[in-house]
Amino acid sequence: MVNRLKVLYELQLIDDKLDQLEELRGDLPLAVNDLTGRINEKKEVIDSKIKEKDDAVEKRKNNDNDIAKMNSDLKKYKAQLYKVRNNKEYDALTKEIDHSEESIEKFENENIALEELMEKLKIEIDELTPELDELNEELKTKEEELKKIIKSNEKEEDNLKVERDKVANTVRKPDYNAYMRIRKAKAGKAVVPIIRSACSGCHNVVPPQRQIEIRQSKRMFNCESCGRILISQDIADEVKAA
Ligand SMILES: [Zn+2]
Repeated sequence: MVNRLKVLYELQLIDDKLDQLEELRGDLPLAVNDLTGRINEKKEVIDSKIKEKDDAVEKRKNNDNDIAKMNSDLKKYKAQLYKVRNNKEYDALTKEIDHSEESIEKFENENIALEELMEKLKIEIDELTPELDELNEELKTKEEELKKIIKSNEKEEDNLKVERDKVANTVRKPDYNAYMRIRKAKAGKAVVPIIRSACSGCHNVVPPQRQIEIRQSKRMFNCESCGRILISQDIADEVKAA
């Protein structure tokens, strides 16, 4: 049992060091994540506006073609007016002319609306693009900072990870699972020594009888108030000295 407790505490000490390295990164990983999300959102907004603008350009081009075609038809009809032979032909032609003129007007009005939309979208895109550039710049800075920190601790972290794997392999599976579960629930600290009669995780006093049992290290005990695995100060000192 003593060994089971020792390897767990050994694992805890390594994880403490890894946690410290992680802490050096501060909120940079979160900031990078957050920025990436905001950049993607902004990109999507800009892309959809660009698409809307392109569609408007395309639609206006088609309208222009239609207007040109109708204008040439109109010219033809008007020329034909001089050659009509009866009222029926005249009525049919004027109907065509009226219809073409109406259509041209409709397309021209639509083009004015499209122009306005294009102008509005252009302003919006022009406003959003520097915002996106700014976010990208910010992301680049944060990523570089993070990379620098990671790089400066890379070797130490790699060594610790190798050491951690070695120690973790000597921990019994159920102990390891319990350790990881408590570690996750208790901000990283799963195994703590009793210091001055109290659990050094939550500072609650451990009953004297329980302290004796823990000192005997014949069983694994969890702190009654925080659930962390408790070890004696002796075991903690031995592991640290090793
Ligand atoms: Zn506790």
